[in-house]
Amino acid sequence: MPDHQRGAQAEESSYEVAQQQFNIVADLLELAPDVREVLRYPKRELIVHFPVKMDDGTVKMFTGFRVQHNIARGPAKGGVRYHPDVTLEEVKALAMWMTWKCAVVGIPYGGAKGGVICDPKKMSVGEIERLTRRYTSEIALLIGPESDIPAPDLNTSAREMGWMMDTYSMQKGYSVPAVVTGKPLSIGGSEGRREATGRGVTFAIQEAARHLNMDLLDSKIVVQGIGNVGGAAADLLSRTGAKIVGLSDSKAGVFNSKGLNVAEILRYKNENGTLQGFPEADAVTNAELLELPCDILVPAAIQSQITGENAPCIKTKVVAEGANGPTTPQADDVLNDRGIFLIPDILANAGGVTVSYFEWVQDLQSLFWSEEEINARLEKIMTKAFRDVYNTARERKLDMRSAANVLAVSRVVQAFRDRGIYP
Ligand code: GLU
Repeated sequence: MPDHQRGAQAEESSYEVAQQQFNIVADLLELAPDVREVLRYPKRELIVHFPVKMDDGTVKMFTGFRVQHNIARGPAKGGVRYHPDVTLEEVKALAMWMTWKCAVVGIPYGGAKGGVICDPKKMSVGEIERLTRRYTSEIALLIGPESDIPAPDLNTSAREMGWMMDTYSMQKGYSVPAVVTGKPLSIGGSEGRREATGRGVTFAIQEAARHLNMDLLDSKIVVQGIGNVGGAAADLLSRTGAKIVGLSDSKAGVFNSKGLNVAEILRYKNENGTLQGFPEADAVTNAELLELPCDILVPAAIQSQITGENAPCIKTKVVAEGANGPTTPQADDVLNDRGIFLIPDILANAGGVTVSYFEWVQDLQSLFWSEEEINARLEKIMTKAFRDVYNTARERKLDMRSAANVLAVSRVVQAFRDRGIYP
């Protein structure tokens, strides 16, 4: 097992973490039993088993999921991940986090998530395409521009979204661009969507630095993960003049206390498929990377990376969660006790779904915005959300995660109360 996944075994599953976090906020808000029960469980859970023709002529069965947690504030929204360790429980947790994420940034969506148990790193492009198309048609009874809108997540990208959009459109008999977001630009994708999560992380960090009186030009930043989120965040932060001192992919990390050349590293990763062997830096494992001395640590890989075990050894002032669920509740307690400032995932990484929302709006009205307009609107939403959470934390004397959850859950509760219970 790669060392960055060890933490996931040692402590609770994402589902247990999401439930524990919900219990904390439900108590803080003194939620009545009815709404507490409604929000604790997903609204819909779909499990699909389906065959895919492999390149060698065999047929392999795959299992996929689509979970809608809550749709009180609007259509269900959330990504689709491909990973050998995907479970229904994990997808349920991620769907719940999407509900809170959309609420905290105030975009009119509920939360959903999808996943397929597979290892795309061991599959050909043709096999991934056939898997994507069949999974899409299996979950077609749930998805649609008004009901549930998938997007990229771990190991999926614009390419998969193009296939999903095409498959859904073929079944309808006409093009339905708004059924997925994070698509290629040529078929209704949005400017700025690819880097949106990393850009949102950057805006959140800049806002945190303002509130904490930190000079980003003087700060050392460590980023775990070099994918869509970590790679873009490292790149954008380094362009603002900040010093990235550590960076990793799923297998290897690099460190240079004087600062890394991020553009060079991204090029090296692109060409070699790994960070292993990158010159001009020391090699570190993912576990070591998290404990490097820095001012800002950005876990932007997978869940359960900062645990009760390594949290005491983390040497940073700020943690900005680019990934979903990278910090366990035990680690939260340790970080709080140590006075480390946390920008929680549902706030820090909400830039992706925010620009997904812009993409969906553009598709629905067939009118497209410039990248400047997208980025300016994103900055406005991220900055406002940060201030809302920060002010809630101050007013209610809460840590930042609890404040974000209090804000998000109370918005969903408001929608639930205003709608009432059918029939
Ligand atoms: N998968 C991303 C997330 O976890 C984006 C979801 C979306 O754009 O719908 O926030």
